[in-house]
Amino acid sequence: MAEVKELKDSYGRRLNYLRISVTDRCNYRCLYCMPPEGVECISHADILRYEDIKFLCRVFRGLGVEKFRFTGGEPLVRRGLVPFMKELREEMPDVKIALTTNASLLVNYARELAEARIDYLNVSLDTVDARKFAQVTRLGRIEDVFAGIAAAKAEGIDNIKLNAVLIRGFNDTEVPAMLAYARREGLLLRLIEFMPLQESIWTKDAFIMGSDLLKALPDGASWEKSEGDGVSSNGPAEYYVNRKTGDRIGIITAVSNHFCKNCNRLRISAEGKLRTCLFNPKEIPLKELIQSRSESALRDAILAAAAAKPRCWDDVKNGNIRMSGIGG
Ligand code: SAM
Ligand code: SF4
Repeated sequence: MAEVKELKDSYGRRLNYLRISVTDRCNYRCLYCMPPEGVECISHADILRYEDIKFLCRVFRGLGVEKFRFTGGEPLVRRGLVPFMKELREEMPDVKIALTTNASLLVNYARELAEARIDYLNVSLDTVDARKFAQVTRLGRIEDVFAGIAAAKAEGIDNIKLNAVLIRGFNDTEVPAMLAYARREGLLLRLIEFMPLQESIWTKDAFIMGSDLLKALPDGASWEKSEGDGVSSNGPAEYYVNRKTGDRIGIITAVSNHFCKNCNRLRISAEGKLRTCLFNPKEIPLKELIQSRSESALRDAILAAAAAKPRCWDDVKNGNIRMSGIGG
């Protein structure tokens, strides 16, 4: 087979971004993500080992993938992740390496993440109020997150985004406080529409549309659309700048105005299942091909899956989705 340098789907979208879930375990139980007792976890024997993930990254790199984001569950609860990211960086100095984390353990890994020259660090933080934080995460302490962010900054990691899922009646009135924290710490706050992943938890009343969020921002009239986040392009967020204060904010309208048209993502679960759309329940199991190092068959499987990537989530959405198993 001729070498493919660009992975494309049948709608001409270039797929150059792979989100890799390294574990479905988490030390938090966020109200909208996991039940209080947690979920039945994949056994250790069934998850991809780091050498498997590295092989997979090589194959995707050969297909033109330029960015790998590690996620979970909580990725930092899996031992060895950050040393692995350093190895990956050594092997692939030119790829973008990213991490999405709840930051509970970040303080322990900030130095090594800096050594791995991580390109993007996204911290999920839905509130800056300690009591509400404990309530939404069930098991979290906000001081750990603040300490983790401070440690990352002290190590020179400066491209940190704060991702907050906005939920009416929980944190919708807190945007000014979050914005103030982000400003103080030099972080970029992004507000995410609450996605209807599990029907038992999501309600229409709790959902706030991105356009309403924008209207409700403090100092409403001063916000203007801006180009990108100043660092990366074609992400899902739309960015706004406050022309008076210079504050910036991102809004991710994952529900009301989804970004399928420009989607460049693929996802792989901890057990090596490829998902071409967050909302598509169809997963392609790749573990056997990965573990047997069947490079050419693996490439073919990826190419076939990419070709069948749905046009839009509206076409495939079906049933409940467990975000902790997919990684957001
Ligand atoms: N544990 C890590 C963390 O929380 O950053 C990584 C995995 S977590 C599943 C990834 C992201 O998915 C988090 O930012 C979380 O807020 C988001 N998420 C989970 N359920 C969601 C939902 N129903 N709507 C919008 N975002 C959601
Ligand atoms: Fe864990 Fe992240 Fe889900 Fe919260 S959102 S329970 S931190 S996986």
